[in-house]
Amino acid sequence: MASLTLDGVTKSYGKTRALTELSLSVGDGEFFVILGPSGAGKTTTLKSVAGLEPIDDGSVHIGGTDMAGVEPYRRNVAMAFESYALYPQKTVHDNLASPLRSGRTGTYSRAEQDERIREVTETLGIAHLRSRFPRELSNGQRQRVALGRVLVRPAGAYLLDEPLSHLDAKLRAAMRAELKQLGAMSSTTTLYVTHDYQEALALGDRIAVLRAGQVVQVGTAAQIWSRP
Ligand code: ADP
Ligand code: ADP
Repeated sequence: MASLTLDGVTKSYGKTRALTELSLSVGDGEFFVILGPSGAGKTTTLKSVAGLEPIDDGSVHIGGTDMAGVEPYRRNVAMAFESYALYPQKTVHDNLASPLRSGRTGTYSRAEQDERIREVTETLGIAHLRSRFPRELSNGQRQRVALGRVLVRPAGAYLLDEPLSHLDAKLRAAMRAELKQLGAMSSTTTLYVTHDYQEALALGDRIAVLRAGQVVQVGTAAQIWSRP
């Protein structure tokens, strides 16, 4: 529903340079992975798109519109952070319903809410946990609920920051397949950050390799794989 373009984006935090003239173009409906080691600038790239950090130079376009001066909540993107947070006093169901009840997303009937929550919880393998509270969940289950809070709401693009980092290897592999399917089904543009190259190769329609705030390679998994 929305293409994403970063053009010559430069960003520093004080004296620390996070991004240097970073340019990326993500097609409408593409599942695009940013792969790179810790400190490469992956999270900063997502925050630049979401409008959560001001950029020093360059531009960000979403769906062809320049986002300069556009507030985060008007950008039509949904971002999930590695440090996920759930409402401790709400059940899984109510944690997933709250993004659908906030005024900015339009209104959903109770039946529509339940239907979307059912779809998302089934995809994420947490349908049986809907009446539990966060304290009654494992870390991996909590992470899936947090991801559900992003995916439950229609958005022009999903910005996902290491969404599988707290899962064990087996669950991570299963979730990879499911996420890919979810991306294909919903055809929502997804910008997905990871430091795990297997995850990147498994998920990405295309992958950008980020190092020290710059894109050093962009291509399909096959193209990235074939280079030394
Ligand atoms: P990644 O997500 O790839 O680990 P980040 O975008 O988080 O990379 O960070 C890129 C660089 O910017 C790193 O050197 C990091 O230490 C620095 N950085 C990130 N956020 C802040 C911040 N809020 N204040 C100061 N430096 C930061
Ligand atoms: P992990 O090692 O993945 O963190 P846990 O040992 O925390 O997993 O939990 C294992 C299983 O027990 C999970 O299915 C989780 O939902 C369930 N569980 C954990 N804590 C509680 C609790 N307080 N009440 C009910 N079920 C729980």
